[in-house]
Amino acid sequence: MVSTSNTPQAPHALDLVIDFVNTLDPDEHTDALSSAAALATWLLEARLLDAGAAIPTEAEHRRALRLREALRALMLANNGGGADHEAGRELERIARDGELGVHFTPTGSAGLAAGASGFAGALASLLIPVAEALGDGSWQRVKACRAPDCRWAFYDRSRNRSGVWCEMAVCGNRTKVRAYRAREIRERR
Ligand SMILES: [Zn+2]
Repeated sequence: MVSTSNTPQAPHALDLVIDFVNTLDPDEHTDALSSAAALATWLLEARLLDAGAAIPTEAEHRRALRLREALRALMLANNGGGADHEAGRELERIARDGELGVHFTPTGSAGLAAGASGFAGALASLLIPVAEALGDGSWQRVKACRAPDCRWAFYDRSRNRSGVWCEMAVCGNRTKVRAYRAREIRERR
């Protein structure tokens, strides 16, 4: 049996947010959200959109791709990149459109929920794990890989939050190849 004790799940359904950002695969050069129909399929499989919901429009598709890059920018900021104020504003727009707010239940609990249905609500729901993780500091561990040709999203499980590169073996290899090439060039001079 494989031990999973040192690879705990990221809290707050952050894996869903990480998966959303990683729909653009830098290694395979594939995009699981390449069309509005593909986006609908992804949202359905993530249980963010109900079966029978309308396929997102082209404008909504573009909005989802903007959200993906805004989230990636914030994840890069968590990895030593500069603060991205426009990314924060993009998230605010998505939250507003989806009527993301505090939902109080009759039993006395409260939590974030999207008031809007359909696509706007689905996108806003993706921000619930982000908001929850911001509350307890676990968002700081959600990073985009520092390699410019990678930017893969990952949850940094290192004890002191020092992870910089993603966990993709191929990225580690690329980093090594780059370091080797740089050394070779220096040595030739
Ligand atoms: Zn990487």
